[in-house]
Amino acid sequence: MNSARELASDVRESRQTAVQVLEDFLKNIDDKEEDVHAFNVVDRENAIEAAAKIDETLAAGHDPGPLAGVPVALKDNLCTRNLATTCSSRILEGWKPPYDATVVERLRAAGAVIIGKTNLDEFAMGSSTEHSAFGPTHNPHDLARVPGGSSGGSAAAVAAGFAPIALGSDTGGSIRQPAALCGVVGVKPTYGLVSRYGLVAFASSFDQIGPFANDVADAALVLETIGGHDPLDSTSIPSPPPSLSGGLSSGVEGLRVGLVAELLEGIDEDVVEQVHQTADALRAGGAVVDLVSIPAVEYGLTAYYLIAPAEASSNLARYDGVRYGMRAEGNEVAEMNAATRRQGFGDEVIARVMLGTFALSAGYYDAFYGKAQKVRTLTRQDFDSAYAKYDILLSPTSPSVAFRFGERSDPMTMYRCDTCTVPSNLVGDPAISVPYGTGEGGMPVGVQVMAPQLGESQMFRVASFIESQAPKRDAA
Ligand code: GLN
Repeated sequence: MNSARELASDVRESRQTAVQVLEDFLKNIDDKEEDVHAFNVVDRENAIEAAAKIDETLAAGHDPGPLAGVPVALKDNLCTRNLATTCSSRILEGWKPPYDATVVERLRAAGAVIIGKTNLDEFAMGSSTEHSAFGPTHNPHDLARVPGGSSGGSAAAVAAGFAPIALGSDTGGSIRQPAALCGVVGVKPTYGLVSRYGLVAFASSFDQIGPFANDVADAALVLETIGGHDPLDSTSIPSPPPSLSGGLSSGVEGLRVGLVAELLEGIDEDVVEQVHQTADALRAGGAVVDLVSIPAVEYGLTAYYLIAPAEASSNLARYDGVRYGMRAEGNEVAEMNAATRRQGFGDEVIARVMLGTFALSAGYYDAFYGKAQKVRTLTRQDFDSAYAKYDILLSPTSPSVAFRFGERSDPMTMYRCDTCTVPSNLVGDPAISVPYGTGEGGMPVGVQVMAPQLGESQMFRVASFIESQAPKRDAA
C-alpha cells in the first residue's frame, strides 16, 4: 500500500490525479465497508469535489500542499462545516456544525481530502466501539473482534485501506489502544500541541487530537500539519508546528530507555513477549534499556475514572434539548431536558455523568475529585524522576490483543483496557503506539513509546527505529 507521502508526491508530480487516488480508496470502501462499518458517513460527493479542486489547483500551476490529494477520515467528534457531527450519539441527531475544527481547516489547507466521519464509542467513552449508537465497528484483521476504542472507526479505516490517514481523539488512550488493536500507528501528542478547537469536549484537561497512519513517517507529517499554536484554543501551547520528519532515521545509539515495571504486571503474556523483543531490538541498536519503577501509575485508572467523568458531567450539561440536536417531549422545560437526556444518551454516557456528578458533589468533592487530582500531581512527580534517568519510556499499549465482541461486558474489565495509556493523559505527555509483532490468534500487538512534554521529536525517532526492526506482517 502506498504511504500518504507517496500519494501526495504522486499527485504533486502529476503521476496520479487526486481524483484517481480518491477513487482507489472509495473502491476499497465499496468492497469492505459493509463488513467493517468504520464510517458513520462516507462524504463521497464533497470528497470528489475537493479532489477535483486539488487537480485544478495543480493544473493552474500552484502547489496544493504537503498532503495534496491525501484522503483523510475524521473521527465523528471533530466538527466539520455543514456535515453532520454525531459523536455516535442519538442526542446530536440532525446537528451540523457551522464551522470546521482547526485541525480540519489545517488539513484542507495542506491539500488533504476529507473522505468521511468515523464511528466511535458514544462521546468517546469506551475502549471497543461497542458503545456507538450506530452499532459497532469490526476489526479488519478479524471481523469477530473489536477494533478497540473509542476511535475504533478511525483505526479500522486505516487498517482496512479506506484512507491512508485518520484523525482521532485521545482522552485516556482512545488513539493508541485502537491503533494497537488494528495494527497501525497512533499518536497522542503533548497536551496543548494540537488545537482542540472544534473537538467535541469529553474531559477537557485530557483531550488531545492525533493521527492514525500506516507508518511513523506518515504520522509525523500529519502532526506537523495539524500541530502548532491556535489562538482559538486557550490551552494551546504558543509554539510553532513541530518539526519531526527530518530526524526519523537517526537511530537510538546511546539512548536511555526505561521499561515501566508496573505496566508489565497484569498484562497478557503474548503482549509482554513482544515488548521484551522490542527492548532487545533497541539494545541491539545501541540503546540502554532498564526496568524503571513509576509507582503512581498503579493509581492511574482510579484517578482517571474520577476526573474524566467529573469533567464529562460538566461538558455534557450543554445537551439539553435546546441548543443541539434532538428534543424529546415534556410538559415543562425541566421535564423536556430530562427526557431528552434520558432518550438521547446511551447507558455508558449516563453512567459517566452520574459518576462525575457524584464525584463533584459537596461532601464528596475532597474525598474523590480532590484526591484524584493529588494522584495526578504524584504521577507527574514520578514521571519527572523517571525522566531524570531516562530519555524515553517503553510499555505495552494495551493489556491484550483485540478481544471478541461482548467479551468485556462489565465496565471494570473494559476500563482495565486503559491501564497503560491513561498515565500519559494524566500528565499531559506525548505517547505513540507502534505495531510490533503479533499475539494470540495472529492479532497485532502495539508497543507504547512515551516521552516528556514536547519530546515528540525523540519519540518519533525511537518509534521509527522500532518500526524498522518489527517483524513484517501481512496487511488486513
Ligand atoms: N477508554 C477510555 C474511556 O472510556 C478512554 C477514552 C478516550 O480516550 N476518549 O474513557
